[in-house]
Amino acid sequence: MLTHLCTSCSKRQIIFPTQFTAVTASEQGPVATFDCWCGAEQSAPLGWAAAEPRKRVLAA
Ligand SMILES: [Zn+2]
Repeated sequence: MLTHLCTSCSKRQIIFPTQFTAVTASEQGPVATFDCWCGAEQSAPLGWAAAEPRKRVLAA
């Protein structure tokens, strides 16, 4: 699930994975293609690959 500012209807919408029509790989990570609630085809990076692993802090 992600939020996306649609270039067609100019609304920020919640996009559910069930709206995805494709997920393709790019140098920046996976990019989802989906249909906005208005019907326009949109795409947005999913950002999974860019996420850094969490650093663990041990309490002494
Ligand atoms: Zn839209």
